[in-house]
Amino acid sequence: MSYAIVPPPVPTLTVAGRDERFPVHRIFCVGRNYAAHAREMGRDPDREPPFFFMKPANAAVDATRVHSIPYPPKTGNFHHEIELVLAISRGGRNIPIESALDHVYGYAVGLDMTRRDLQLEARDKGRPWEFGKSFSKSAPIGAVHRAEDIGHIRQGAISVTVNGQPRQTSDITQLIWSVAECVAYLSEYEELEPGDLIMTGTPAGVNSVVAGDVMHGSIAGLSAITVAVS
Ligand code: MN
Repeated sequence: MSYAIVPPPVPTLTVAGRDERFPVHRIFCVGRNYAAHAREMGRDPDREPPFFFMKPANAAVDATRVHSIPYPPKTGNFHHEIELVLAISRGGRNIPIESALDHVYGYAVGLDMTRRDLQLEARDKGRPWEFGKSFSKSAPIGAVHRAEDIGHIRQGAISVTVNGQPRQTSDITQLIWSVAECVAYLSEYEELEPGDLIMTGTPAGVNSVVAGDVMHGSIAGLSAITVAVS
């Protein structure tokens, strides 16, 4: 078998403490999974079912190797969203909550970078979010820490600073839908496959960055990331 064109490379992430890399298949993102962020976006944070959107695999940037992302075109309001990222190693559909963590390979710190002006315009016009959310290099992600090395993440501080100033600060315990619940719920709609990532949503305090800004994202127990906007 030969390809008609050169096949695009498989995006990969660093695995903490190991030589092998984690291949990125699909990136699912949870919307409004912290009550205070739902409120700042003008939405009711009551526990309505989670909803998901996607980013292309080439949104993933290995933030342990690449320390800047380009300011994207067609926006004047480019926002950071600090998020806990899950890496899926075992696929499955209709996964029970009780065994959902068995499908999680590990965890990483990630940024769901968002062209907020385009996202809100799309939202308010009832259009898809793609141009606001789903563009290349829009998901810088740090080293994936294996669950078998560090256990599963149920709590811990999550924060991002910009140029050293606090922007978003919360705790993983504030997730409306837990890691296990996100995996279980998503698998009812789409069979999960090895290599999938799930970005679990962002706490309050989303705000804009401009070229030259430096973001520093951290989650307790995981490798922090430092990403400049160029
Ligand atoms: Mn997000």
